[in-house]
Amino acid sequence: MTEPLATNLYGVLLRAAHLVCAQNPAHSPHLFGAQLPLCWRCTGILLGSAAFVAWLFTKRRLPALRLSVALALLMPLDVLQAVVTHGDGDNARRLLTGALWGFFAASLALHLFTYVQARLTHAREHGGVGGSPTVSEGVLMERHPPLGDAAP
Ligand SMILES: [Zn+2]
Repeated sequence: MTEPLATNLYGVLLRAAHLVCAQNPAHSPHLFGAQLPLCWRCTGILLGSAAFVAWLFTKRRLPALRLSVALALLMPLDVLQAVVTHGDGDNARRLLTGALWGFFAASLALHLFTYVQARLTHAREHGGVGGSPTVSEGVLMERHPPLGDAAP
């Protein structure tokens, strides 16, 4: 009685995961002979994203921008390397770079969101161009200086 339910649940998970994952059997973890719904890379992305959410709730600040860029780039570089060399890649590297992407690309997205929000708030309060930022905007803009505002 539980086997059809488990089979149905597994089928639902496979179909749902297939929306975001190619599910290449050679690139996917297997448990008791059954392929798991997400490949190694997507498993890493999921774990890294979950770790990022946990990190945000405990630290209440974003990782440094430069660190986020450097570590998020490792996954695209891993993909590029596999494409350029026509290599099969490595599942451990897929998991690791996927986890780094999940963590630090989420960080980059929030850095970008913070930057855009600071720019929009500044523009709204000061009629678009010019004016002095408020104290809170100044803190945000110190981290994300607006383009073209650099001193000569
Ligand atoms: Zn995948």
